[in-house]
Amino acid sequence: MTALTKAHINKFKQQLLTLQQALSTQYESGKSASDTVVLDQSKVGRLSRMDALQQQNMAQSTLRNIESRLRRVNRALAKIASGDFAYCDECGAVIEIARLEVQPEAPCCFACQSKQEYHPQS
Ligand SMILES: [Zn+2]
Repeated sequence: MTALTKAHINKFKQQLLTLQQALSTQYESGKSASDTVVLDQSKVGRLSRMDALQQQNMAQSTLRNIESRLRRVNRALAKIASGDFAYCDECGAVIEIARLEVQPEAPCCFACQSKQEYHPQS
């Protein structure tokens, strides 16, 4: 396995910062979108109200996804700052570089991630 170098970490840090910026922007615009779904009872009929509610639900679930990804990004940046970057939160193993290249905010290694996906409650 290729060792993680400072150059890698710097690259991941840049990616994470870019991601953080993009996600914050998305979060802000998503937030105002979900806030502006006004359930104006005088104006819209029952169906359109259900539509609006559905849109609001979707906007909120998108928002939650953005929020949790943003939390992982912030956590990864904190790990870079404390020198713990690329170590799995669960088992302490080094997270695969190939994995980090796809998902620099990954909090744990592939094995732990798969375990969590199979047993989301544990
Ligand atoms: Zn692990």
